[in-house]
Amino acid sequence: MSTRVRLLGLRYDERSSHLRGAAEAPPRIREALFSGASNLWAEDGTDLDGRFDDRGDVEPGTGDAALAAITAAARGVVDGPALFLGGDHSITFPVMRAVAERHGPVSILHFDAHPDLYDQYQGDPFSHACPFARVLEAGFARRLVQVGIRTLNGHQREQARRFGVEIVPVAEWDRYVPDLTGPCYVSFDLDGLDPAFAPGVSHREPGGLSVRQALRVIQALRGPVVAADLVELNPGQDPSGASAVVCAKLIKELAARLLATLPPA
Ligand code: MN
Ligand code: MN
Repeated sequence: MSTRVRLLGLRYDERSSHLRGAAEAPPRIREALFSGASNLWAEDGTDLDGRFDDRGDVEPGTGDAALAAITAAARGVVDGPALFLGGDHSITFPVMRAVAERHGPVSILHFDAHPDLYDQYQGDPFSHACPFARVLEAGFARRLVQVGIRTLNGHQREQARRFGVEIVPVAEWDRYVPDLTGPCYVSFDLDGLDPAFAPGVSHREPGGLSVRQALRVIQALRGPVVAADLVELNPGQDPSGASAVVCAKLIKELAARLLATLPPA
């Protein structure tokens, strides 16, 4: 039987700093993905019909126990290609714990308007504004490359310097070709895209990536891409469902990349 991409929803938005609502995203993304309004073919010619192994949604609860529950759920799927549907961006640190246990430190390609490198935010070191500070401190990343960043402040610029984070300058978004090697992980915060393309997020930041610019970078990843997450769709900000459709598109292209770059068994 051909390999399938495990799909796991993480209904968690307790560590959002501005608006809650991302916990409602996984069912909306699935609905758009399997709606029949589009097909399940990726642009590289991969037919994804029957290639998803949908493991459903986890409601991890609250507090520190929620982070442990997310790691435990992620451990159950990272023995094969895995796509995680957030949830806010705080899910990435507990997910990456499971990914690093399985694959060792990975190369991370991170799409976001925000570097998410705060040492702590509103007193919470596990806020959705902090996951990559925790990932780097824990040694889960060989490299962290960020695309879409347009909100750097002094503290986060200093954090990026301290951790050796590579931020792709805005002027290079059109021509950047990822040179990540070894096991790769993609973390896609929907607000990395311009709000003209995906307004259904909690933190709309103008001047972002087009869908096409993001797809071009994803499609150029050589991998192996072992897992990815897609976070920060806020259905409360997406009454038309158009941003959920963008998420479905990203999921198809990420799934095709996972399948095309499978690591040797
Ligand atoms: Mn963001
Ligand atoms: Mn983020």
